[in-house]
Amino acid sequence: MLRISCPWCGPRDEPEYAFGGESHVVRPTPDVDDATWAQYLFQRENPKGVQFERWCHSYGCGQWFNIVRDTVTHEILTVYQMGAGKPAIET
Ligand SMILES: [Zn+2]
Repeated sequence: MLRISCPWCGPRDEPEYAFGGESHVVRPTPDVDDATWAQYLFQRENPKGVQFERWCHSYGCGQWFNIVRDTVTHEILTVYQMGAGKPAIET
């Protein structure tokens, strides 16, 4: 089980959170072709290693935030608020 530190509430166990998928996915403009929309909607990196993710503290404060997690070791490298820039971490 992951122990995730919410930026507002502090460390809590994983069942209090909802996974929101990969973070920093940029929505394309409405006039793009179908292939670009499909890429945006369905294709994710799913790396073996460092991944940028969105999480919601759904059974706590209800706030969304980002974490950087290693998908192999489950180590959480950093936690940062939505809207903050993508941290410089080697992937
Ligand atoms: Zn919280």
